[in-house]
Amino acid sequence: QRLTVAIVGRPNVGKSTLFNRLVGKKLALVDDTPGVTRDWRAADARVGGLDLTVVDTAGLEEVFDDSLEARMRRQTERAMERADVILFMVDARAGITGMDRHFATWLRRSNRPVVLAANKAEGAAARSGLIEAYELGLGEPIAISAEHGEGMADFVQALLPFV
Ligand code: GDP
Ligand code: MG
Repeated sequence: QRLTVAIVGRPNVGKSTLFNRLVGKKLALVDDTPGVTRDWRAADARVGGLDLTVVDTAGLEEVFDDSLEARMRRQTERAMERADVILFMVDARAGITGMDRHFATWLRRSNRPVVLAANKAEGAAARSGLIEAYELGLGEPIAISAEHGEGMADFVQALLPFV
């Protein structure tokens, strides 16, 4: 059984890094077409015995006329059309921002299945950000490092209830 996971979050938290780690860099790059505005890309991955389709909501970084908040909502809604679960990613190093809080509240109210991931969690610099992430009211954050491949077992564990 295949589980579709959409990675959402504000720019620079590490969504594409996780996508590339899960699906393999080569595969992710094949999808990139220069000059084409792309608001999501999807690829299959087998991670810790789970068959996943991973959706990277790229394009939040693109220039649109509307606000980042509006873009995040639109991206999430679009991703949800094909996702079983939303992976909401925050940056444990940068800490939780007002945008993160705002978006978390919106996600909570939308009653969507959400898993919270605190990325860039390698090392002590992430400690206070991890604690802040608990305050988002989306349950226990999974501490991961997309760049270093840490926390992947916990990531898989958190997805199991949705399979
Ligand atoms: P996106 O905008 O959310 O897709 O973020 P990217 O995947 O493009 O990553 C933004 C920046 O964060 C890049 O410079 C990455 O190398 C860096 N990054 C991603 N994951 C990690 C991580 O686990 N730890 C650290 N320290 N940096 C990371
Ligand atoms: Mg990206």
